[in-house]
Amino acid sequence: MAAALTRLTKPASLAFSSVNIIRRCLSSAVAVSETNNAASYVPPFVLDSNRPRKDPKDRNVQWVFLGCPGVGKGTYASRLCNLLGVPHIATGDLVREELASSGPHSQQVFIYLFIFYWNCLSEIVNQGKLVSDEIIISLLSKRLEAGEAKGESGFILDGFPRTIQQAEILEGVTDIDLVVNLKLQEDILIDKCLGRRICSQCGGNFNVASINVKGENGKRGISMAPLLPPPHCMSKLITRSDDTEAVVKQRLRIYNEKSQPVEEFYRSRGKLLEFDLPGGIPESWPRLLQVLNLDDEEKQSAAA
Ligand code: ADP
Repeated sequence: MAAALTRLTKPASLAFSSVNIIRRCLSSAVAVSETNNAASYVPPFVLDSNRPRKDPKDRNVQWVFLGCPGVGKGTYASRLCNLLGVPHIATGDLVREELASSGPHSQQVFIYLFIFYWNCLSEIVNQGKLVSDEIIISLLSKRLEAGEAKGESGFILDGFPRTIQQAEILEGVTDIDLVVNLKLQEDILIDKCLGRRICSQCGGNFNVASINVKGENGKRGISMAPLLPPPHCMSKLITRSDDTEAVVKQRLRIYNEKSQPVEEFYRSRGKLLEFDLPGGIPESWPRLLQVLNLDDEEKQSAAA
């Protein structure tokens, strides 16, 4: 799959690639809705739909996790990946790694252009907008290629696809077996994003929010205990720059506009599994394993 995705993004030359990426980046900084509009977006590559696809029996799972910001995609996807022995590939992490590094080709002569690229990328993320499909596909194919070289098989994708265009590109190169759609009500999502903390040393993800919503007017009540860090991480906690109230609301708005149609894309293909989170991890994890028919798998791995 990495090879197919790479072919999709491999332009004639590095110079063309650099300029093209920057051009896409700049245009998405100005008008995100235009760049991710499938009708107006002409990929600079040809879809390789003839690539032979592996039978699901001969490979590991290829799953996707969908859901609004703050719903817990990362938490549950990474737990499942540990259980199933597949890589957890979160495009948000790939974007943050890209921003933390010195850019895609820092040693190239295009250094000034890449400072520009970096500024644009960080501005898009900090405004809660979507990065252009071209940049995301390029980061994802690089990650998949590195994984294939290490002998990885299968994956759980988290945060991709986020637009119909991305879903169509993915559908063009590989078979997705299952799409899990995690759901929580919006006011809780905002509190959970605002409570999110990361340990700057070990990279651990925590949440200081204590959710206690009473059931009323037909809505069910829900409680989620905070996921507190161990004492040695306490003084090293940082907050993601895009986890402010204004940016979280913007991300939710963009999710509803751009990513919700992706749910219908997979629903109509019979691949969507809806999962309403019943509470925090202690309630939700066993229930998720049950609906995925993985409870025995967990018992076996705990016993091993
Ligand atoms: P969230 O908590 O909103 O799900 P992520 O960590 O998945 O956050 O993503 C962080 C940011 O990275 C997004 O707001 C967006 O700017 C960018 N991003 C991640 N995945 C994609 C994608 N598939 N397409 C476009 N932009 C993406």
